[in-house]
Amino acid sequence: MSSQFFVVATPIGNLKDITLRAIEVLNDVDYIACEDTRVTRILADKYGFSAKLFDCHKFNEKERSEKIINLLEEGKNVALVSDAGTPGISDPGSVLISSLIERGIKITSLPGACAVTTFLSMIPRKNEEYAFIGFIPRNKKQQIEILNKYRYTNCVFYESPNRLMETLENIKEEYGPNALVAVGRELTKVFEEIKINSVEEIISYFQKNPLKGEIVAMLFAKETSDVSEDELKQKIKILKEEGFSPKDISRIISKLYGENKNKVYKMVI
Ligand code: SAM
Repeated sequence: MSSQFFVVATPIGNLKDITLRAIEVLNDVDYIACEDTRVTRILADKYGFSAKLFDCHKFNEKERSEKIINLLEEGKNVALVSDAGTPGISDPGSVLISSLIERGIKITSLPGACAVTTFLSMIPRKNEEYAFIGFIPRNKKQQIEILNKYRYTNCVFYESPNRLMETLENIKEEYGPNALVAVGRELTKVFEEIKINSVEEIISYFQKNPLKGEIVAMLFAKETSDVSEDELKQKIKILKEEGFSPKDISRIISKLYGENKNKVYKMVI
């Protein structure tokens, strides 16, 4: 039989969240390419995988792609895993996958744990549509740019616990205190927590409660404008007559009605 290459999802916290097929494949392959061999060793020891482990991470993925192709050409079976969840989802994998596709090598992906899907399965939404942006940029301007791009779509992102409050403050400033947000923390783990509320309430909650561990969050799609275009123009006119600057007007309107600041600013000028 010719060699085989597998992408294998591993747990995102609870070590029992691994499929029977993943255990079978990781038991059978000759090599497991992993982000950090120390992390995958824990899983390998728990389930008794005897395959050789080697690292394949964002800094050596290109070079490791050649190694993996050579192993496959020698008839070895290889699996790719990441530290947690599904490889290629905010994790290395993409460079390797494109090299394999270029060589016409068949890829078999074993579905399993993923923080986005675990999170979304617990979040009620009015429609199925969502945009997953991976790790949200750190820079405020870039954050707002990407959130604006998907303002009318549920926008899911990964964020570090150290930066979440700042990101939530940016959302509050841009879309107003009532913008609806969901936060999933430590999914599948002992301190798993899901919060769905206005951004203001969520900020206030995490000011009083520990914000540690791994985070996935969503800014809910803005449904429709709370005010009609005509009403908006009317409000802008009043504020203009009162002598407010375009910047102040866009800030006030966006706070009051959750309208996008840039959109209002453009209307003002
Ligand atoms: N490949 C993974 C997947 O399938 O979800 C994601 C890897 S990415 C490097 C790691 C980020 O995913 C974390 O910083 C966090 O934002 C999110 N994440 C991973 N595990 C999580 C968990 N148990 N609960 C909440 N978020 C998690």
